[in-house]
Amino acid sequence: MSIYDNYETIIGLEVHVQLATKSKAFCADDTTFGADPNTHISVVSLGHPGTLPKLNKKQVEFAVRLGLALNCEINPRNTFDRKNYFYADLPKGYQITQDASPICLGGNLEIKVGEEKKTIRLHHIHMEEDAGKLIHDIDPDHSLVDLNRAGVPLLEIVTEPDFRSAEEVDVFMNAMRQLVRYLEVSDGNMEEGSLRCDCNVSVRKKGDTQLNERCEIKNMNSMRYARQAIKFEKKRQIDLMEKGERVAQNTLNFDPTTGTTSPLRQKEDAHDYRYFPEPDLPPVVLSKEYIEKIKSEMPPLPNELFERFIAEFKLPKYDAELLTEEKETALYFLAICEATKNYKAVSNLVINKIKPFCNEEKISISDIKVSPKAFAAFADLIESGKVSSSIAYQRLFPALISSPEKSPEALAQELNLIQSNDEDFLEKIVNEILEKNPKEVEAYKKGKKNLIGFFMGQVMKNSKGKAEPKSTNALLRKKLEG
Ligand code: ADP
Ligand code: MG
Repeated sequence: MSIYDNYETIIGLEVHVQLATKSKAFCADDTTFGADPNTHISVVSLGHPGTLPKLNKKQVEFAVRLGLALNCEINPRNTFDRKNYFYADLPKGYQITQDASPICLGGNLEIKVGEEKKTIRLHHIHMEEDAGKLIHDIDPDHSLVDLNRAGVPLLEIVTEPDFRSAEEVDVFMNAMRQLVRYLEVSDGNMEEGSLRCDCNVSVRKKGDTQLNERCEIKNMNSMRYARQAIKFEKKRQIDLMEKGERVAQNTLNFDPTTGTTSPLRQKEDAHDYRYFPEPDLPPVVLSKEYIEKIKSEMPPLPNELFERFIAEFKLPKYDAELLTEEKETALYFLAICEATKNYKAVSNLVINKIKPFCNEEKISISDIKVSPKAFAAFADLIESGKVSSSIAYQRLFPALISSPEKSPEALAQELNLIQSNDEDFLEKIVNEILEKNPKEVEAYKKGKKNLIGFFMGQVMKNSKGKAEPKSTNALLRKKLEG
């Protein structure tokens, strides 16, 4: 056992979600990602003196929606504060945020780590605005600033220090991305920075109950880097403690090229920001009716659908997991199941055929012209044995995609794909196969029973997949054994 096994890692996250509003948090500037630098700016996002912020209603609605989905208490009277600091990407010299009285309090998210379920408690969620972006790699002599992002609305989700491994953090961030996409409050795109987190990491001897000093690794927008950074930090802190040294509370930067963290700045004490109530924005007062209305418009949530797919549709966990990954897929599965009870056949069809097809064609499920009802009929054809699943997937599926107006049954007839359990049809083929393969027949009769697979294969090939397997198998056995 190594010394590292005597310790446990404690992690708490500050997750930033960039909201998918059309305009910024406190003015009408466009928020579209990837525009030319400094084209989405106005006097408000540039912080000109005398300008006033005006709250974006959508930001509040999205915050409440996320808060409800995460079992938070919605704070009916929440307020904005100014967080003062000087930096080149912050033209106003302060960030509008919520400190004393944020919009969502408490809450939790249940995650699945392997077979285990674990509940991560949330401390609160608050609304704030993003800063601009400094660009250091274009001009060799100067840093450039792009203020398009300045004032873009964010939600910050602050968790309790409930994580014990990088894996748990990974699962949580994936669940969070899935959730914000289900709720349509953010595109959840980590590469574009729409979802990122600060990881607070400390270590303590196993069995200890009090928390030790932590370090905060800023702005992780790749889970691979976050895992590396947490691992590095764990080792660094344990090494210090083993030497009898103290871990200083620090804000760290992670360098992916070296896989190491380095101090960005000494952690400012909260009062260094000189938080004070934002005088230009009134308190946000939310009525019961307003909150109830948002509650009544909530889409189904991934965890709920996952449980439902297992309980109601009797699907294996694996299927439920894949079907609920994206809301669109889950809802499409439900739409097909309105028209059939062959849920497992529908699940197979969605997972093995429809999803891969959409990925290949780079389209979304809603772009498919085939109706959910037709896909239900498609699944029924397979389940009833009228068309073998391999023939259905290989031939009927593309035919249906090209002629979405036709019924799968009619198409199967047209293409001559209906499996036959017609005695005469089967008998003719079976006889042919047995005549052609006297050696195999001999061997079968002497006891090599697994040759049945060979005969089945031959009949299938000969019938172009149309021989219905059960009847074929019975007929073969009758002929070989009878
Ligand atoms: P601030 O960063 O403003 O000082 P907090 O002290 O409330 O705010 O903590 C911020 C984050 O740090 C939270 O996600 C919390 O879970 C996490 N955290 C607090 N203490 C520890 C600790 N000892 N080890 C790991 N994470 C911690
Ligand atoms: Mg912090």
